[in-house]
Amino acid sequence: MTSFSDQLVFDSQIINRFDVNGPRYTSYPTADRFVETFTADSCRPWLEKRTTVTNRQQLSLYFHIPFCNTICYYCACNKIITKDHGRSAKYLKYLAKELALQSSYLTDGDNEVAQLHWGGGTPTFLSHDEMRQLMAATRRHFRLVEDGEYSIEVDPRKVNRATVELLGELGFNRMSVGVQDFDESVQQAVNRIQSEAETFAVIDAARASGFGSISIDLIYGLPKQTVSGFERTLDRVIAANPDRLSIYNYAHLPSLFKPQRRILESDMPTADSRLQILSMAIGKLTEAGYVFIGMDHFAKPDDELAIAQREGRLHRNFQGYSTHSDCDMMSFGISSISKVGPSYYQNVKTLDEYYDRLDGGVLPIYRGLALDADDILRRSIIQSLMCHFELSMAAVEAAHQIEFRTYFAPELEALREMVEGGLLRIEEGRIAVLPPGRMLVRAISMVFDKFLRADRESKRYSKVI
Ligand code: SF4
Repeated sequence: MTSFSDQLVFDSQIINRFDVNGPRYTSYPTADRFVETFTADSCRPWLEKRTTVTNRQQLSLYFHIPFCNTICYYCACNKIITKDHGRSAKYLKYLAKELALQSSYLTDGDNEVAQLHWGGGTPTFLSHDEMRQLMAATRRHFRLVEDGEYSIEVDPRKVNRATVELLGELGFNRMSVGVQDFDESVQQAVNRIQSEAETFAVIDAARASGFGSISIDLIYGLPKQTVSGFERTLDRVIAANPDRLSIYNYAHLPSLFKPQRRILESDMPTADSRLQILSMAIGKLTEAGYVFIGMDHFAKPDDELAIAQREGRLHRNFQGYSTHSDCDMMSFGISSISKVGPSYYQNVKTLDEYYDRLDGGVLPIYRGLALDADDILRRSIIQSLMCHFELSMAAVEAAHQIEFRTYFAPELEALREMVEGGLLRIEEGRIAVLPPGRMLVRAISMVFDKFLRADRESKRYSKVI
């Protein structure tokens, strides 16, 4: 057992005992529970009456740019590998159509945006002109507030100083930089060759262009990865002084994700060495002063995520942790997921379907869900556990008009083994996730997932750790 702080204890015995397959809960219910009977007609009323139902004026926008120049073998995203930049030109025309169509259902004046994110794929696959076009189309329909959070995922292999400066001019002020691992043998094994020099040049350019927060994404559990190799990567990354760091767990599921079949099983680290890599990484980050936010996220104590967590204002959405309150999110592009009022809906996954639907003047939605009172109740519990490592039963009772111990009797019973194992404490009116349980907060949250309880199909998910 290693105690990294009074907030986080890494206990490999506990992890081995309680680690299970589980979702990341960027939404609850998770997207695999959405149903195809939820159509474009089902979401329109929620958009139209958004202001009255949710009483939240500001919006969050997400744009999915699916194109990438080359394939990274570990990738599980919905992307299209191509060198043909003509494909993004066509895609942008349709994004503009979708922007016009979705926004036409909003009430007049209901267009204030506090948060915007371009994800992918590789958003920087777009040419400078295309980036300008997309932001101009967005601003035609929405008003981006002055102090909003405007973020973009950047692949340093495809970006130069001029691109970063342009992104700053367009209004971006947050950047997440994909690194994964600087070790050359790991980079070769996953087909992602990326030098430290090009990565740090992008970070320097972002700081010079006024980006207020820079996040670096790493992955542990990749083929050929070793404790010493990943330690060197972390030293270099910490020296670059990012505001936030994400250390994702590589989920090797070659039967689900075709590119992963090009990874040799014999190159995969053992379960033991994965745990050693993770433990070393947490130790180094804690020593460097980063705070564990939850799941795979770390931030400097003065970063707004850490402040929001201390002040009880942290939230979770499709981009992970967020400081913005439970904003409605309108999303654009293939496979993107929106959350409006008590509903989620997801776009079609292929370009052909996306273009066909929009040519027909129909929102390109293929599945979704209207949440019932029980879903909303369970979502609030999972949010609270994932963001704050605790749950006030009294607050839940007051907000949802239930008697907690009766309503959740089977769940409290199921938590008993975790209580005995030292993961959490159930007190009068409160559930508290203890430091050794914090790495396993997903497993704890899963107890409140009605759908998992119903069918126990947990083998479809990757391991929590
Ligand atoms: S990891 Fe990112 S850059 Fe690599 S293939 Fe996937 S989406 Fe594209």
